[in-house]
Amino acid sequence: MTVIDNTIKLTFYGGANEIGGNKVLLEDLQKDVKVFIDFGVNIKKLSEYKNKFSPPASLNELIDNKFLPSQSKLPIQNLYSQNYIYEPGQRFLEKLKECKGKKDPPCDCDGIFISHAHIDHYYGLSFVNRNIPIFTGLMTRSIIEANSKSSPSSFENFYYGLDWQCFRTGVNKHIKGMEVIPVHVDHSIPAAYGFIFCTSGGLVIYTGDFRMHGPLRDMTDDLIEKIEACSSNNQVLALICEGTFIHKGSIESEANVKTQLETLIESITFDYLIVKYNRTDWDRFRTFVNIAKKFGWNYIISERDAYFYHTLNQDPNHDTMRDPSLLNDDNILILLDENPEGKLFQWQRELRRVFRDNHKERRLCNQEDLGKLASKFFLYYTALQEPLNMSLPLDLVGAFISSDIDPYAEEKFDNSRELANNLRRLGLPSYRVQASGHAKPHDIYNFVKKVDPKYLYPIHTENARIFKHLFKNTEIQVILESNS
Ligand SMILES: [Zn+2]
Repeated sequence: MTVIDNTIKLTFYGGANEIGGNKVLLEDLQKDVKVFIDFGVNIKKLSEYKNKFSPPASLNELIDNKFLPSQSKLPIQNLYSQNYIYEPGQRFLEKLKECKGKKDPPCDCDGIFISHAHIDHYYGLSFVNRNIPIFTGLMTRSIIEANSKSSPSSFENFYYGLDWQCFRTGVNKHIKGMEVIPVHVDHSIPAAYGFIFCTSGGLVIYTGDFRMHGPLRDMTDDLIEKIEACSSNNQVLALICEGTFIHKGSIESEANVKTQLETLIESITFDYLIVKYNRTDWDRFRTFVNIAKKFGWNYIISERDAYFYHTLNQDPNHDTMRDPSLLNDDNILILLDENPEGKLFQWQRELRRVFRDNHKERRLCNQEDLGKLASKFFLYYTALQEPLNMSLPLDLVGAFISSDIDPYAEEKFDNSRELANNLRRLGLPSYRVQASGHAKPHDIYNFVKKVDPKYLYPIHTENARIFKHLFKNTEIQVILESNS
């Protein structure tokens, strides 16, 4: 915890010396403002916990194991909901019925700002007091909700009753006289934001996760321009800057991913390629589907993923997520979930009806159809059911392409290496083709120099000390925080 110039207090409840799990409490003591910036968990630690014990089943278990802060440590009353949290063993519909119309007690947290829809930045929202406004981008909210609807229901996937206060770039928020300026940045998911908090002590800037080498790098430039415009009459007091890759870089881009994949597909004669990346990485989804189209391959995704993409295709607010189109891109096939009880969920009935109504049922396929396809195909990883060898068309010849954005998972802990090993045992060789969602060391360095803050707080990195070294000859004071 740091108090700067007696006015601004920053407390890190997650994200210091770790990748993911950002939870920073910003307090403007003069304006009496308390806001959280992101509210995620560290997915790597959560995954290790799940493997060692079993998935946490209650809020208390998450708090006891330091995934979320304990109420007793917080300068906020009633941060957690008293009505909207699952009891172990409860069912989704039962919970929904139980909490309809229920009101949580008053809470003095003025808001939670969510920078983007990677779970390591918003995982804790299921548990918070429903009186707290949740400030996030319009599209970010759509992605969170589409992801929630197309994921199995669980106690950490319950957003009912949240007070969403959505924004777009250019529409600022005002909290008790503190202006907050959201600015889009480029990352490996659409609708990622950085924030400029105009506090009593000067500007406090939060980068969220960002990169300068992606297809939408101009958006990250917009953040720099906005900071420069704001800082002409207002000092940059503090910069909370992501540093996932402050310690190592490589020269890569989404355009390179495309070129490398094209080179591979031009010369490959395998029957199919299993592909793995994060489903919220729309750029990667588009790259793969377009390459499949160009080379006359099918692109096969699971029914749940199809529902996720179709939901976002349909969202009237976002034309950037119309392409690829589940309905119009006829090279995309949907591998139907085979429920042993033969029952269909409502979302499955909805998706299958859309395809039937549009005379596209031929694109709905089953496991046994894979061996009979006329063309080569990509098989998107989550289409596979465990155990792996039960789901693979093992009479065909295939390989594996690991294309996860980063070795540090933003959604699920990256098990690409383990998966590649398992597939090798079944005879499938593997390739790696990727471009990171995070800025390179030199890009971060240039960015920080331009912003020129008084205090620099590294976040979302296991290598915060490198910031100390890089800025040792400047006026910038690098503060290495630890999590409270
Ligand atoms: Zn992220």
